[in-house]
Amino acid sequence: MTAQEVTEGLRGPAFAATPWTYHQGHVVAYDSVGFTVATQGLNYGTGVFEGIRAYWDPRAHSLHVVKLREHLERFAASARLLHLDLGATVAELSDASTELLVRNGYRGDTYLRPIAHTLQFLPGTAFGVRLRGISTATSIYALPMPAGIGIEGVRCLVSSWRRVPDESLPARAKITGSYANLALAVDEATSAGCDDAILLNTKGTVAEASTANVFLARDGQLITPHLGADILAGITRGCVIELAATEGDTVVEREVPRSELYSADEIFLTGTGCELVPVIAIDGRSVGDGSVGPVTRRYLQRYRDAVHGRDDSLAGWLTTVRLTD
Ligand code: PMP
Repeated sequence: MTAQEVTEGLRGPAFAATPWTYHQGHVVAYDSVGFTVATQGLNYGTGVFEGIRAYWDPRAHSLHVVKLREHLERFAASARLLHLDLGATVAELSDASTELLVRNGYRGDTYLRPIAHTLQFLPGTAFGVRLRGISTATSIYALPMPAGIGIEGVRCLVSSWRRVPDESLPARAKITGSYANLALAVDEATSAGCDDAILLNTKGTVAEASTANVFLARDGQLITPHLGADILAGITRGCVIELAATEGDTVVEREVPRSELYSADEIFLTGTGCELVPVIAIDGRSVGDGSVGPVTRRYLQRYRDAVHGRDDSLAGWLTTVRLTD
């Protein structure tokens, strides 16, 4: 691949639709942001990020951003762990996100990616791995991301790679470097012909999928690994727990042994990117009868109605940004 092809790939068709980026306090042209090969976050994985969805509502000429404040608060919490100074408050990043959507003017489902990472040594700081004495870069970029992929169901492999334990690298923070752990698991799963990996934690119980939390439906209950199971406290996971309260369903957050995956009536994954995705097979065994079950279908419909602005009782999830001509 030539250097020009790499550069073209980074600009890509997705970015052509969303040419503006927030960077260090300003909305600037996406192509104008450049980093050197010595960028600290690139060398050591010392960065944090978020993934936020905005759904296009053609009737309202608006984008509905889902749980914007919650995502940015998690971003700020992740940044605190790595001593990254975001240079902006959650409220300012929230305004920046909406300004970015307006400037891009893209009328379609959009993904927002806030990212902050160590940038370069401040004067007097020696070369090497560290968290202090280094400047931070804070950016938010956007790309088109149509919703509803994988709804027909995915096949998962329980990975031989374990989710990094909280004592080593906290999964509760979205740290760029920790995604190498998840990438190894995805690679193992896709090499085996599956769509995604489910990782166990070092205690051997279920943690999460590569970029999604796991829910089991069994005997009329929803079961999901508790927050001490080395998982990200997923915001979509929280949405499902909220929905369950309105549906009158019980959610049990506890340790989930691997073997329980094989006896669940239904399993689904939750995440901003994937939304709610049914798991139809695990380790070559079908989940339930191998088709999308009624509980998954019901929650998927409720979630979709909420994020597309069709459920007034859940309007509080959304920050609505109107695009004018
Ligand atoms: N776990 C991991 C490791 C993730 O990267 C994600 C995606 N952010 C999730 C779970 C789901 O979290 P959320 O619902 O907040 O997108």
